[in-house]
Amino acid sequence: MSGWLVIAGLGPGDVELVTPEVSHALAQATDIVGYIPYVRRIAPRPGLTLHESDNRVELERARHALEMAQAGARVVVVSSGDPGVFAMASAVFEALEAEPAVWRALDIRVLPGITAMLAASARAGAPLGHDFCAINLSDNLKPWAVIEKRLRLAVEADFAMGFYNPRSRARPDGFGRVLDLLREACDPERVLIFARAVSTAEEDLRIVTLAEAQPEMADMRTVVLVGSSRTRLIARDGARPFVYTPRSVSE
Ligand code: SAH
Repeated sequence: MSGWLVIAGLGPGDVELVTPEVSHALAQATDIVGYIPYVRRIAPRPGLTLHESDNRVELERARHALEMAQAGARVVVVSSGDPGVFAMASAVFEALEAEPAVWRALDIRVLPGITAMLAASARAGAPLGHDFCAINLSDNLKPWAVIEKRLRLAVEADFAMGFYNPRSRARPDGFGRVLDLLREACDPERVLIFARAVSTAEEDLRIVTLAEAQPEMADMRTVVLVGSSRTRLIARDGARPFVYTPRSVSE
């Protein structure tokens, strides 16, 4: 049997948002590898082994997946959203780079998924309709100073932004500092969207101004979208407003 390794994105939560390509790979797999809550999204079946691991062991997990594929298994490494966005695809390539060159002949494919900021954007309207960027607010893998620098420059360039991993129990204070930094540089009317657990039963979307934003509005299941200076609301009677960013900008 010749093995392969697929690194797949499961999308933001709803099974309707898993691509047919990813479903097909999951149906062919002998082994699923990933962080516990993502592996739990896969239905068990005979012939399929589920390997759950903790969040902090990405490289170990990637190496394990490569070893199994090398030995002939059909392995799917699962991430939420898209596997290339703050997720397992880079970890697998980092592991591959450090392994013997013969491993590079393995059949390895990355299958995209719908990333959280795009799922959240669609729910709100089109806040990312002009230029935008994504910033991971966790300082587990980079110094805080790098986060602040990127944030300042993104605000200066007037990008709309998506913040991943905004706030956790281990990092309760960073997001408050991010809001302070935004308040120094942006109008108090700047639009923010706190999109929690998008496309799941716990989904919650809050559209607020920068003046109203509070650190407690975000947790690890939230992606925070920040509009550019041009992002605006279309009010609707009895319904959530649409948020959108016009496609054009003048100097
Ligand atoms: N690879 C994932 C991101 C992993 S980082 C992706 O492409 O979406 C984990 C962060 O993603 C969370 O802290 C949160 O900011 C965001 N996230 C993931 N799923 C989400 C969802 N359903 N709703 C809102 N945010 C989500």
